[in-house]
Amino acid sequence: MAIETKVGAYICSGCGIGEAVDVAALQKLAQGELKIPVCKVHEKLCAAPGLEMIRQDVAAENLNRVIVAGCSWRTKPEEFYFGDAVLTDRVNLREHVAWVMEPQHEDTQAAAEDYLRMGAAKVRNSEPPEALVEAIDETVLVIGGGVTGMRAALATVATGHETVIIEKETQLGGWATRYSQVFPKAAPYQEPVESGVQELIRAVQSEPKITVHLATTVKKIDGEPGKFQVELQGAGEGQTLRAGSIIQASGWKPYDPMKLGKLGYGRLRNVVTNLQMEEMAAGREIVRPSDGQAPKSVAFIQCAGSRDADHLPYCSAVCCRVSLKQALYVRRRYPEAKVFILYKDLRSPGQYEAFYQHVQGDEGVFLTKGEVVRVDGLPGDRVEIELSDTLFGENVTVEADMLVLATGMVPTTLVENGEAGSEGAPAAESKETSEQKSGASAEAGAHILNLNYRKGTDLPTLKYGFPDSHYICFPYETQRTAIFAAGAVRAPMDLASAENDAWGAAVKAVQALHLMTKGAALHPRAGDISYPDFFLQRCTQCKRCTEECPFGTLDEDVKGTPQPHPYRCRRCGICMGACPERIVSFKNYSVHMIGSMLKSIEVPEEDEEKPRVLAFMCENDALPSLDIAARHHMKLNPFVRIIPVRCLGSMNVVWIADALSAGIDGVLLIGCKHGDDYQCHFIKGSELANRRMENVQEKLKQLVLEKERVQITTLALNEWEKIPQVFDQFMEAIDSVGPNPYKGF
Ligand code: SF4
Ligand code: SF4
Repeated sequence: MAIETKVGAYICSGCGIGEAVDVAALQKLAQGELKIPVCKVHEKLCAAPGLEMIRQDVAAENLNRVIVAGCSWRTKPEEFYFGDAVLTDRVNLREHVAWVMEPQHEDTQAAAEDYLRMGAAKVRNSEPPEALVEAIDETVLVIGGGVTGMRAALATVATGHETVIIEKETQLGGWATRYSQVFPKAAPYQEPVESGVQELIRAVQSEPKITVHLATTVKKIDGEPGKFQVELQGAGEGQTLRAGSIIQASGWKPYDPMKLGKLGYGRLRNVVTNLQMEEMAAGREIVRPSDGQAPKSVAFIQCAGSRDADHLPYCSAVCCRVSLKQALYVRRRYPEAKVFILYKDLRSPGQYEAFYQHVQGDEGVFLTKGEVVRVDGLPGDRVEIELSDTLFGENVTVEADMLVLATGMVPTTLVENGEAGSEGAPAAESKETSEQKSGASAEAGAHILNLNYRKGTDLPTLKYGFPDSHYICFPYETQRTAIFAAGAVRAPMDLASAENDAWGAAVKAVQALHLMTKGAALHPRAGDISYPDFFLQRCTQCKRCTEECPFGTLDEDVKGTPQPHPYRCRRCGICMGACPERIVSFKNYSVHMIGSMLKSIEVPEEDEEKPRVLAFMCENDALPSLDIAARHHMKLNPFVRIIPVRCLGSMNVVWIADALSAGIDGVLLIGCKHGDDYQCHFIKGSELANRRMENVQEKLKQLVLEKERVQITTLALNEWEKIPQVFDQFMEAIDSVGPNPYKGF
């Protein structure tokens, strides 16, 4: 039996609201037209007496819906919480009305009244969400037993969680075990030091809560966060593990030096990579490959394949310091030898400046800036390098017994030409391709996670193959819920940074487990317990939701019916925006709920010359930026009514049709930036909304309405100063086309 909806409305007159609007009239509206018998005005609702008043009413009147008409929902959410069974909505009289409109003006009052109407419609057409709480496995799975993976595992077990490491090699330690030494990690940043990897391996091996599977890879991962089933292959063949969250620390691979023939690799016998140099140093023998003789001079070419449009366009972050370190290897072994470091720019950030200066101070090390013009062989298998754009103003030629190419780092996630496991840079991409990449699904052909997800086996990546995380705020996040990337697979980085990264990803992996035990969402709606419900009896198997969900939440059965995995879901509502049948809804966010809100707006008659514009604003950036504008008391057009949306991608086009049919003069959609540097918190929701505009324009044509009536724009958090202008410009466009002809029908 449906529970009766009992609404209480509380209007705050504090923070300047009482001076700007007639709160008594609002109370009358609530008790009369809106039929909310329990409606009270208070001078400071957020203070203890105000909150106590609401609590007492909730208990005495059995209220299960509370409207708090006061400040923004972003302020004091904990204070305005009255239990799981009570759905509380915040009508933002302060930031949306009182602080941004003319005080005591009829248009300001009309806006306040509309917001109260929308609040009433909202709570009456939604329900308190109920968490889907299922037993979860609290084990963390770490893929990769290098320094990042081991550090991450030690961090997760420190919080009490069992952790499993899967390592494809026969020993732990990754690349670090192959380095003779690493560049200094602490003051005075002078001489190379031991990597510490052996201590780390011992710590992992002696930790009872860490299980290590060596010579093992992942055959398949089924299920969803909290309930991942992981099938192993290799030495662990046949075993299946369960895990709650995953840290992918699969690391990097060296850039393919065979692509660097121009720099002599594969063409001249005494040209080696920095990794080959490292292997020689570890074996205590730094010699020329051609004759096994000690070199009297060694040249290093920096950015060998990095920062090069034909190879890796990015900086590999570590190679400069690696060459400085290797210069010392040479100088310590052969005090008479000369070292030439040939660089475009020498990057030794932060405290490593001291290391750079220390090496620079060595009388046998010569640092020369320039662009490599050619690398040729000389008699005796020596090498000659010609540089242009030097500090001397003329080309310089350097001769050496041996040449080391400081080659860069490529993430293990990168697959070139669709061939798993191949190395090298992606082909140069056109702008269009790279933009598509930001919204693409999993890296095609990658087989590290082997997820059994409809949207691909591995993490979606950006154009250079690094797993995509949320662009600004959350580096370890990926587009697959509860799977976090850490270390050099995420971005080129040194060992010290990789260890820091491991800590960060470990915190996120553990936090994910804690949220999941409550059935709550992860970033960016952390703590949200709502989830989408699919009324599948009416599903037409159009597959729009499965294709558009950015997080791979929805698999499909053979007929194409979506199979939701709630624990993969981030609760963005993009599936709701995608579904033409309108059968996807959340208890507290639905097509019907928003439809009822927009229909509750009072639309003045045409002759009143008071247009009405509806702005759907994304809760992630656009709406908070409006709060900031309000704090600066910027004046906003009083004819705009705002409806917050979880993501512009959750916008169902039917809302636009409904709004225009109801006589609203124009609809403005404000979301996050999309494209390469997207800021959409749900990856591509904003971009999808943009694409759906084509359908909207079609709808406008059918309704014989001007295209100006619906516009989409973007707004970043720091663009709050633009908001008045955004509203005014749209209002001018609406003025130019005149009132909506459907007004009054
Ligand atoms: S709410 Fe978002 S993450 Fe969840 S299923 Fe829908 S589109 Fe996917
Ligand atoms: S978008 Fe709607 S109709 Fe299409 S597959 Fe998904 S649930 Fe079914």
